[in-house]
Amino acid sequence: QTSFGPQLSARGLTRRYGPFLAVDDVDLDLAAGDRHALIGPNGAGKSTLLNLLAGTIRPTAGQVVLAGRDITRTRPVRRARLGLSRTFQTPAVLESLTALDNLVVAAWRHTGTHTAWRPARRRTLAARGLHRLDEVGLGDHAHTPARELSHGQRRLLEIAGALTANPAVLLLDEPAAGLADHDLTLLLDALRRLPAQTAVLLVEHNQDVVTTLAHTVTVLHHGRVLATGTPHAIHTHPAVAEVYLGT
Ligand code: ADP
Ligand code: MG
Repeated sequence: QTSFGPQLSARGLTRRYGPFLAVDDVDLDLAAGDRHALIGPNGAGKSTLLNLLAGTIRPTAGQVVLAGRDITRTRPVRRARLGLSRTFQTPAVLESLTALDNLVVAAWRHTGTHTAWRPARRRTLAARGLHRLDEVGLGDHAHTPARELSHGQRRLLEIAGALTANPAVLLLDEPAAGLADHDLTLLLDALRRLPAQTAVLLVEHNQDVVTTLAHTVTVLHHGRVLATGTPHAIHTHPAVAEVYLGT
């Protein structure tokens, strides 16, 4: 509601699997324009936390608040319509459709109406889609079937898809994972060009991506927040070094 408060907040967010605490009492705030990286060893709970925020899994305890509104029980599709978009660790693109048609489908999914297939509406969505593709550096591939895109280009396509919703908050799960150098360069360019007002939370292992993009880094360990700070503060944090040495 207010543009001064956080766009997205987690309070006491907890997820159990039997006796096991995958995410344990996590507080997190994302403000407009934030670039926040979530790091931590394998199994730390990063994906689980992202899924709790996106709504694909339900918390055992705690709250998720989007722009002042409690969305803890809100389904993912509705969260997306309220301004919370996400990408997946494995890009969710439709292989046989062109890059541009993927974006039209993404826009259709977002609005949840069939008007996307009316010619005039479709032309509007296609024009907007082309603009999105340009933004992420895929402008030359609008008519390329997704299956012919490189792994990195598919990542960019998925990010473009998440942006069709003009999200207030964008959650990215390991966007750089498995990318070759050239694709990594494309991704970094695209991430630098993300809308300035969008609050971005990214799970990321790649140190270059974290230091290039993030203003704030949160370290998860055994489901708990071990430390939060600037990339430099985190890089030189003794407890953080210990966690990474121990794995
Ligand atoms: P990360 O993304 O940081 O590598 P995850 O969030 O995927 O970690 O997983 C955190 C912990 O929760 C891991 O120990 C994982 O085995 C466990 N976990 C995740 N999902 C499930 C599930 N559906 N059932 C049981 N344990 C799970
Ligand atoms: Mg993960």
